[in-house]
Amino acid sequence: MTLSNIRIVLVRPTHPGNIGATARAMKNMSLQSLCLVAPEDFPSADATDRAAGADDVLKSAMVCGSLDDALKDCHLVIGTSARLRRIEWPALDPESCARRLVAGAQRGPVALLFGQERTGLLNAELDRCHFVVTVPADRDFSSLNLACAVQILAYEIYRAAQPGVSVGSTEVRENRPASDEDMQRLYQHLEEVLQQIGFLDPANPRLLMRRLMRLFNRAAPDHNELNILRGILTAVQQRNDKLDKKTQK
Ligand code: SAH
Repeated sequence: MTLSNIRIVLVRPTHPGNIGATARAMKNMSLQSLCLVAPEDFPSADATDRAAGADDVLKSAMVCGSLDDALKDCHLVIGTSARLRRIEWPALDPESCARRLVAGAQRGPVALLFGQERTGLLNAELDRCHFVVTVPADRDFSSLNLACAVQILAYEIYRAAQPGVSVGSTEVRENRPASDEDMQRLYQHLEEVLQQIGFLDPANPRLLMRRLMRLFNRAAPDHNELNILRGILTAVQQRNDKLDKKTQK
């Protein structure tokens, strides 16, 4: 069942009631896979009360210390936000978000990220996302309760997963998609090389890495393509080391 590949990730949730209400909203829509990143208060009686019978979703929830652990095997990550940011991430409406998740789930784990009640998702957390989805709401009061946002998006996923609904491209690609863990390694390597060759000034990085991450996330490279990029970076480093040694002589 592909819905089990759709992971609902709550990032640093503060209210256990919202965790319970999320579990209930998920189970109502046939979703089972919940992941909590650094929850402030969990397990908790409040969460179990609000789960109202969806205790199995709470019990099987994966509790992670970091977003890295929550996303490592995911090849598609979609973030949620009540508002648009300065650098925009590619935006989706709830229906297209659900279709992408259902299509992606046929190839492996995918994640839908929800932010903390007060702060929402931080930019560094949105950097992990291929897309950002916003539930359209009143212009001056657009921030929904966390579990209500989960409910609306879970409902769209449920609808998109119904037989006969076309979820668009479930393209068959030869190679396995790169996971979030693979992509994070690429970004670290790229940043290191850009500093070594003097393209990125660590004292004044501006938005360079964010822009590059958006570019590569948009391209959604597969595992082989990623290995080529990593190979190029290693070759640049080797050449750079040689030049350094020559100039030191
Ligand atoms: N002050 C925060 C709001 C956080 S609400 C902000 O402006 O971002 C907590 C979480 O609920 C958000 O991080 C997001 O995951 C979800 N959420 C709330 N309103 C939403 C909306 N209109 N569309 C999509 N997600 C929403």
